[in-house]
Amino acid sequence: MGEDIKLKSSIGIIGAGIQGVCIALCLIKKGFKVTLIDRDDPGKESASYGNAGHFSPYASVPINRPDILVDIPAMLLSSTGPLALKWNYAFKMIPWFLKFIKNCSRKNMMHTAKNMHQILNLALSAYDEIFEDIDISGLVESKGIIYFWTNKDLKSRELENNIRNELGVKQQLLTPQEIHDLEPHIKKIYHGGVLYPYARHARNPRKILLKLFDLFIKKGGRFEKQNVQTISFSSENKPIIKTDLKFFTFDKAVVACGAFSKKLTDQVDEKIPLDTERGYHVHFKGHDHLLSRPVIFLNRGFGITPMEQGLRAVGTVEFGGLDNPPSKKRIQNLINGAKYLFPELTHHEDEWMGFRPSLPDFLPVIGPSKNYKNLFYSFGHHHLGWTLGAISGKIVSGMIAGENTNLDLSPYNSKRFS
Ligand SMILES: Cc1cc2nc3c(=O)[nH]c(=O)nc-3n(C[C@H](O)[C@H](O)[C@H](O)COP(=O)(O)OP(=O)(O)OC[C@H]3O[C@@H](n4cnc5c(N)ncnc54)[C@H](O)[C@@H]3O)c2cc1C
Repeated sequence: MGEDIKLKSSIGIIGAGIQGVCIALCLIKKGFKVTLIDRDDPGKESASYGNAGHFSPYASVPINRPDILVDIPAMLLSSTGPLALKWNYAFKMIPWFLKFIKNCSRKNMMHTAKNMHQILNLALSAYDEIFEDIDISGLVESKGIIYFWTNKDLKSRELENNIRNELGVKQQLLTPQEIHDLEPHIKKIYHGGVLYPYARHARNPRKILLKLFDLFIKKGGRFEKQNVQTISFSSENKPIIKTDLKFFTFDKAVVACGAFSKKLTDQVDEKIPLDTERGYHVHFKGHDHLLSRPVIFLNRGFGITPMEQGLRAVGTVEFGGLDNPPSKKRIQNLINGAKYLFPELTHHEDEWMGFRPSLPDFLPVIGPSKNYKNLFYSFGHHHLGWTLGAISGKIVSGMIAGENTNLDLSPYNSKRFS
């Protein structure tokens, strides 16, 4: 596509989470006329605000794997376990669960692992490019991330380590003494762990998102704070976006609404089985000096990240849809878990719930719509959407600009659900 065409092409992006903002920034740098639409202020309450802040290029081992099927019943029954289900949502989730089970074969697990690895491997360098233009001093730390565990479920740990070895992911197994040497304030409840030395973490995901957003505006981008109701198409196949207030017509549009994307893709005759894994966080202000880097306690499915807001205890997975209220019990679990690891913690603040956008094969949807060539998608990045912001921005903007790539992007196409 020539420069003059790019300058004239207008692109509308729905969703100003990390996906939408990175795509918007990449497109405006390429000379497109870009409008970002979100019903909320960027990064206000979205998943892109409240996540654990991990940049996790190592995390290719997917959730869909054979061992998890055996573990799920015990996880659901355990009051301190990593998984919970809102029983009023169980029936609605059956189709998603059936597809998930199908994806837990070794073959499908490896398909997901390889294709997650393909984009995760490029995630940090893509951020390096994007961060060249903003001041991130004090906001991104490169001290690695530690996962630790007790003697339970060692078979699962072995499987994860083996897959990462197979994919060539750098990992450093840790003895209890080594964990203690790296993070001396954690109570010694662990029996083993692993360090991903090249992982990074954000000390304030919202601040980073806002810096990227401000740069987008400075470069001439437009922001419309409006709720998108529908997407339809003109006789020339141009997307028409109807908000609560008005209609916009663009040359091309991108759906990047995270877990809420399905409400829009259902309207354009796609059957994308997107659902959500709800997660939570709380802050223990003034305690971030207790950790040098993020840690994850695998048995309980939560982690703690040292952030500007204090220690952020964050994680757990709850299947409960977009409309159920937050679960007090899940929040209490998170608080109890944090205090178990750090008995000196007392008062917590800022109870937050967010929505991971998750597909049953645990691959995101990145690419053009199945039915409309001027509509593109970037959602469904589940536990890794923060890590994959910049690389998705590069990929989607490259597709819209008609650039060639040597990546195999077919595994991320929505056609896989047809
Ligand atoms: C507890 C928790 C911890 C996590 N930790 C990590 C981590 O450490 N590392 C990592 O890589 N990932 C992590 N994730 C996942 C990551 O946060 C998400 O995958 C990512 O933020 C998704 O980004 P997004 O831009 O797709 O969606 P979102 O951040 O959800 O943004 C979507 C935006 O779309 C807007 N929107 C939705 N519908 C409409 C509409 N109809 N009209 C207008 N606007 C609309 C919303 O207002 C929102 O601003 C975590 C998630 C959770 C919940």
